[in-house]
Amino acid sequence: MGIFEKMAAEGHEQLILSYDENSNLKALVAIHDSTLGSALGGCRMWPYETEEEAIDDVLRLSFGMTAKSAITRCNHGGGKTLLWGDPETDKTEAYLRAFGRFIEGLKGRVITGTDMGTSFDDFVTVGQETDWLVGLPEYAGGSGNTSVTTAFGVLQGIRAGVRQVFGSDNLADKTVAVQGVGKVGIRLVEHLIDAGCKVIVTDIDENVVQETKQRFPVEAVTPDAIYDVDCDVFAPCAMGGVLNEDSIERLKCRVIAGAANNQLSHPDIGRKLDEKGILFAPDYIVNAGGLIQVADELEGFNWDRAMKKTGDLYDLLLGCFEVAEKENIPPFEAADRIVADRIQKLGRISRIYLPEKS
Ligand code: NAD
Repeated sequence: MGIFEKMAAEGHEQLILSYDENSNLKALVAIHDSTLGSALGGCRMWPYETEEEAIDDVLRLSFGMTAKSAITRCNHGGGKTLLWGDPETDKTEAYLRAFGRFIEGLKGRVITGTDMGTSFDDFVTVGQETDWLVGLPEYAGGSGNTSVTTAFGVLQGIRAGVRQVFGSDNLADKTVAVQGVGKVGIRLVEHLIDAGCKVIVTDIDENVVQETKQRFPVEAVTPDAIYDVDCDVFAPCAMGGVLNEDSIERLKCRVIAGAANNQLSHPDIGRKLDEKGILFAPDYIVNAGGLIQVADELEGFNWDRAMKKTGDLYDLLLGCFEVAEKENIPPFEAADRIVADRIQKLGRISRIYLPEKS
């Protein structure tokens, strides 16, 4: 498929390639949909094998950001930035500042921040050239680590899912399997233990498993065994694509709600989960706490407001489950419909002519 065919397939608006010979910067910016505002999305750095892989990834990731911003009423469009390079060896001051100048040149059509492969320190350097950044560390005027809000949002996702399936959001007698106890997963474990859950964890990094066991009364299993444990809730907090033909046949849970992006390897898997009576809480709502936090920075950051909006994800999910029931579709499809409807309706208000301010 050609690039324009790929863009047309998911309705992308713009793909920008930037190259700086001096620092060997190769940056890609994708804007999926800017109906609701400037395109907000993190900046990932990865040594893709081919140009095509990089383009596919930036298009896919920016598409997901549109939905996340629209459904959480952050009033931003969806975008994503990629640095095609090796995060261990390619970042120099010139590289990062060249990137900042390209972002500045877009005059706010795109706002970016850290993601996989990029760090707070990198973005303090990028920030010497552009103001169009979010998610900076507190010492540089940002709101700091987003895993606190993200984990709190995932807790709301689990509570909403449990309420939908079991009739009450009391987690005290529930067993939750947490896949990945990194920055978000370990904070989620803390919330779950506080709520009285039995928690089973796994991670490919044995050190973080040991740290989790030392801090909390949890059981641990090997990474592959997490799909077979007896539990009420499965919380994928490691990586995307973990829900596939093989894993969903093994799952014994009634609810799936976790932090990872793009958990469904394919939309058909979401439909199969629904048929099996497993409620899949749409990942882009469940993990939206971090986005809510960085979007709040653009209004002059207020921690209480960001946490309140993250807490509201509970009601947002219940609303989505209600639409799903009414329309007889899985919740992830209901979420997509809510997103499309909001973008379509709000897009139309821009037809109302406003005279220029005198
Ligand atoms: P992280 O890198 O700190 O933690 C991920 C953990 O998962 C690591 O400890 C890693 O060893 C483990 N892991 C990787 N592959 C695994 C596997 N196959 N089985 C078990 N464990 C495995 O990342 P994070 O910030 O905690 O984010 C977790 C997930 O949530 C990621 O997918 C991220 O994209 C997503 N997410 C994070 C945020 C945020 O604010 N941090 C926001 C939205 C979405």
